[in-house]
Amino acid sequence: MNNMQNLYRQVIMEHYKSPRNKGLTGNGKTTHLHNPSCGDDITVEVEMENGIVKSVHHEGTGCSICCSSASVMTEVLTGKTVSEARDIINDYVKMIKGEEISDPDRLEEALVYQGVAQFPARMKCATIAWKAAEELIGEEDE
Ligand code: ZN
Repeated sequence: MNNMQNLYRQVIMEHYKSPRNKGLTGNGKTTHLHNPSCGDDITVEVEMENGIVKSVHHEGTGCSICCSSASVMTEVLTGKTVSEARDIINDYVKMIKGEEISDPDRLEEALVYQGVAQFPARMKCATIAWKAAEELIGEEDE
């Protein structure tokens, strides 16, 4: 394992052990997704204000990839506009599929999941929370 992979692993485990924005507030819209192949079960809540993602919360159970990526996502998407958040989610899903993305820096800490592209069985784990957020943000006008 090289240093970069090691660093990525540390970030993932840190978010798994101390998830950010865990627990729903009741202030936003929620959606619930389930990943039968792994058992991940997650609810994401997005609160919008004036076209900006005001807050993102998550609740649920799952593997380290699923739960940590939900935590990272809440931090990356908060404060973004609807169109920025959509672009980031699209790029993230592309990265997980191993596709080229034009602006990797935009993904901020979510870049640590790029290694998941080598493990097709874990792709759903890494994207389930993001798909839930995409559903919620997709209903918003730009
Ligand atoms: Zn999983």
